[in-house]
Amino acid sequence: MSNKTQFDTQHQQGIITKVSGPLVVAKNMSAAKMYEVVKVSEKKLIGEVIELHKDTASIQVYEETSGIGPGEPVFLTGESLSVELGPGILENIYDGIQRPLPALKKLAGNFITRGIESPGLDRSRKWHFKPSAKQGDELQAGDILGAVQETEIVSHKIMIPPGVSGKIESIVKEGDYTVIDEIAKIQNSEIRNTTYEIRLMQRWPIRRARPIKEKLLPYEPLITGQRIIDAFFPITKGGTGSVPGPFGSGKTVIQQQLAKWADADIIVYVGCGERGNEMTEVLQEFPELIDPKSGKPLMKRTVLVANTSNMPVAAREASVYTGITLAEYYRDMGYKVALMADSTSRWAEAMREISGRLEEMPGEEGYPAYLGSRTAAFYERAGYVKCLGKDNREGCLSVVGAVSPPGGDLSEPVTQNTLRVTKVFWALDAQLAYRRHYPAINWLNSYSLYYEDVNDFMKEKAGADWPEVRAQAMDLLQQEASLQEIVRLVGVESLSLKEQIVLDTAKSLREDFLQQNAYDEVDTYTSVKKMYLMLKAILAFHNSALKKIQDDPELKIEILTSDPLKEKIAKLKFVPEEKIGEIEGVIEEAGKIVISNL
Ligand code: ADP
Repeated sequence: MSNKTQFDTQHQQGIITKVSGPLVVAKNMSAAKMYEVVKVSEKKLIGEVIELHKDTASIQVYEETSGIGPGEPVFLTGESLSVELGPGILENIYDGIQRPLPALKKLAGNFITRGIESPGLDRSRKWHFKPSAKQGDELQAGDILGAVQETEIVSHKIMIPPGVSGKIESIVKEGDYTVIDEIAKIQNSEIRNTTYEIRLMQRWPIRRARPIKEKLLPYEPLITGQRIIDAFFPITKGGTGSVPGPFGSGKTVIQQQLAKWADADIIVYVGCGERGNEMTEVLQEFPELIDPKSGKPLMKRTVLVANTSNMPVAAREASVYTGITLAEYYRDMGYKVALMADSTSRWAEAMREISGRLEEMPGEEGYPAYLGSRTAAFYERAGYVKCLGKDNREGCLSVVGAVSPPGGDLSEPVTQNTLRVTKVFWALDAQLAYRRHYPAINWLNSYSLYYEDVNDFMKEKAGADWPEVRAQAMDLLQQEASLQEIVRLVGVESLSLKEQIVLDTAKSLREDFLQQNAYDEVDTYTSVKKMYLMLKAILAFHNSALKKIQDDPELKIEILTSDPLKEKIAKLKFVPEEKIGEIEGVIEEAGKIVISNL
């Protein structure tokens, strides 16, 4: 502890007047600021000021408050709740206020005792720093001073922090340094006659978005290799999406598929107060996943922020901010970052609980009236951006939030507020999962507001007629839904031959295209080109069949459905990427069934 804080804590000490679960009220707090971090009682529990009224402060405490009572002291720190940003974040597992869980476990065993301080970044570990700037260089915020190879696959850029710019007075040579060693001195031109010491580590308050130069329009899809997503409900690099997660609907598998295959450099996973054992599953499974691109553990480019429901509610509230700040920091280096938060409903419930204890006016279903604005502000931090720094590099942060609507009721406030701000909705459907249709994303209820934004990209990477192909496939799936209604009422015999062909093609779209097995070596990932060719093959067969019945209106549907080509189409998903040329042969054959069978 520095002398300054020792001095401060002696003279600026609050006194607890009330304790209500995670909320502590203290008087004598006139020197405190909003969102200032405080240490509560002699146990030094970490808390944050969330409401100030003259000299009374409401404090949310990030640790269990039992045994704490009125009369005990509150110490101010003068700092906002911040995270430490520097090498050592990747491969780590943090709690909601960036305490590394493995380090905590070492300190305190399985049950984390209270008041433990463990910094987000290891102070003793040395990192090999390679400078790329030199003495005398004029640098501004965001400029890159050098880099550290953080893991085998990620080079960690050491950047001038926001709010600092000026001439480099000194910079260290290439060598090994800890995160707190001084590596450069800058004559800070932002504040006259001051120098600023640069370390491998910087800090940032979690509730404030890290600054950028400008937000750019997202136009490039975040390719996930999952056909239903990339073809029908794409998310962009820098885009936002939401996914409801009924139990057993394949949410974990989807998230792991995204983490493995999405075209992102860095993955941030925020596990927010799901049932304790579910979080344990994530904590055990994630570290075992292998990154298909590098063949190394996926954790080499991943950080987990984990809050189980047995951790205090306030830490859960903070965890999404901790996660997104870590994600923004890697975006600032120019990386493509994907953040997944599971489940944001638990975050909203934490907000509701704290708001209730503050006796705020409740909104819908007891959630605070600011639920909507907080949700929007969180997703606002996603984006495809021009980063700070002279080199005009671009970075992006895509955010996918899971929601857990009670009883699957999508009209409840958390889901509604999320849908209002996210542009993609993958409707995971328990019924589909029950029928073992995976991924269980319902193609009728899901949507993406980006699909037109990515058309140019898709025309180039898939094929020039991509928009038409996508539209025809989607239309057939929608037609199927209304035809099935008729079949239910009056039976399949009442359908025209053309309608029966529509049903048959839609079935093929569902089974041969939308269903994708995460555990099959080839099927687990499909490139944009292959996905396009697969759709083309299914549609070529369909269009030929329609032509054929024009010539032969008495044709039996069985003749079409038993065509041997159908079998080939069903197996296209297993054609390896290096052999997708073969699919063009199938498309050609499908285009000719009119001729061959006549
Ligand atoms: P949730 O997390 O929603 O409770 P899971 O993600 O654990 O559900 O999925 C439940 C089961 O469904 C998995 O164990 C797996 O057998 C199956 N499953 C889900 N998605 C797929 C998929 N894309 N491919 C194959 N099987 C899947």
